[in-house]
Amino acid sequence: MIGSVVSPLRVAVVGSGPAGFYAAGHLLNATGSSVRVDLFDRLPTPWGLVRAGVAPDHPKIKSVSRVYEKIAHSAGFSFHGNVEVGTDVTHDQLVRAYHAVVYTVGTSAGNSLNIPGAELPGCHLATDFVAWYNGHPDHCSRHFDLSHERAVVIGNGNVALDVARMLALSPGELRTTDTADYALKALERSAVKEIVVLGRRGPLQAAYTVPELRELGELAAADITVDPQDIVLDETSQAFLESGTATLGDKKKLEVLSAFAARESADKARRIALRFLRSPDKIIGSERVEAVRVVRNELTSDLTARATHETETIDAGLVLCSIGYRGARILGVPFDERRGTIHNDRGRVTLEGTRQPIAGVYTAGWIKRGPSGVIGTNKKCAHETVDLLLDDLAAGRLPDPVESRDDLLSWIGRRSAIVSHAGWETIDRHERRLGEAQGRPRVKLVRRERLLECAASEQGDLGVEAPSDEGPGCRA
Ligand code: NAP
Repeated sequence: MIGSVVSPLRVAVVGSGPAGFYAAGHLLNATGSSVRVDLFDRLPTPWGLVRAGVAPDHPKIKSVSRVYEKIAHSAGFSFHGNVEVGTDVTHDQLVRAYHAVVYTVGTSAGNSLNIPGAELPGCHLATDFVAWYNGHPDHCSRHFDLSHERAVVIGNGNVALDVARMLALSPGELRTTDTADYALKALERSAVKEIVVLGRRGPLQAAYTVPELRELGELAAADITVDPQDIVLDETSQAFLESGTATLGDKKKLEVLSAFAARESADKARRIALRFLRSPDKIIGSERVEAVRVVRNELTSDLTARATHETETIDAGLVLCSIGYRGARILGVPFDERRGTIHNDRGRVTLEGTRQPIAGVYTAGWIKRGPSGVIGTNKKCAHETVDLLLDDLAAGRLPDPVESRDDLLSWIGRRSAIVSHAGWETIDRHERRLGEAQGRPRVKLVRRERLLECAASEQGDLGVEAPSDEGPGCRA
């Protein structure tokens, strides 16, 4: 017995991104051999945003996957890919077969802009573009028109900088990455010469971090421009900067932007233009995006953006809207529609509109607290949740399962081709081998059926994934 629960403790973790692995790792560390952790993912592959979100030219950030692989080799851990909770198995079924269920499903949907013309072809969520260039199976058939010379990115977070940078990288810089093959070809043929990034507030309020900002000044094939007028601070921002509240990061951000503003053009093939205090109020075009009408903002005394009457029109063929993510509801799991997260109290899932915990149901990561922080932030967040789970275990608050875990897994296996960790390792080896031949970390398999076929094969020796022009969506 562990606490009041029949041994071994059985926990289902749903979502195999950073938060899911950190939750699994902490459970395994804290309880040792007396826990059985089943990690489910709707994709045949693990790692969540580390595989499908982190920019391909940031391999160091992706190297955190080594930590996850170590966890995956722990006794008591199993991976079950290609299993979607809500489709292949229900929340209720999990609750009946496990002492605890921990949801770490992330926030999969991008926020959309509610302005006229946002529905026009050529206007996309940045999150879809990110998933496309990262070879996410659900996004590999999308089409992004890169035939126009200008793209506009709306938003001032790190994702906005990621997509701007990906549009600005030279073929040489891209070719050493694990960008999906079709996207690599499309980006290499891209006609985009200028990427305009619009922040609705001022430079001090930009959400991106200093290293990511600084990186824009080091691109081989793209200049960076900042209009000196755009970074003149309003009174409230200036007072904030001079107060004790401003962080070193705030000061550095302004320093970097000032250095960009003072730079001479190096006549590179492309350029990224950072603009501030600008919001789009209309996407213009008859059949597709042709331009963005932008209104100049001023900051109010509480540092929110207020539109002025001054407008300008920026010609563009591609608009990427990068204004944050939100989560999606899972049937049977209380959801906070306003925040776009699972309804919870520090990680204990609570009944909607109350702080009353639902015994044995937990959450961690972006779906618990919203899309914020770096990958490591999810470690602390997952540990907080698992510590509460362990408190509940010790206090005898976890319900005993009423159904067999093995029966449930067999039932799921009859409906869906489950990818085990060994199956994922076959995919991993295969992708890395293809990558090695090209001096890249891996060549990703992008189609679900191809991933399943590879996972099921002994050697994973499937030859090269069908080349780029495979889908109508994969052309530049
Ligand atoms: P984010 O950091 O929350 O930034 C969202 C941006 O959208 C903000 O600039 C926000 O401006 C703007 N915005 C929101 N609503 C808007 C609207 N209606 N019109 C115009 N702009 C609007 O979100 P994110 O970029 O999606 O990043 C999510 C998390 O992932 C962040 O914690 C980020 O640091 C992290 N991330 C890290 C890396 C990295 O470390 N390299 C890479 C990618 C992502 P306001 O401030 O005015 O609301």
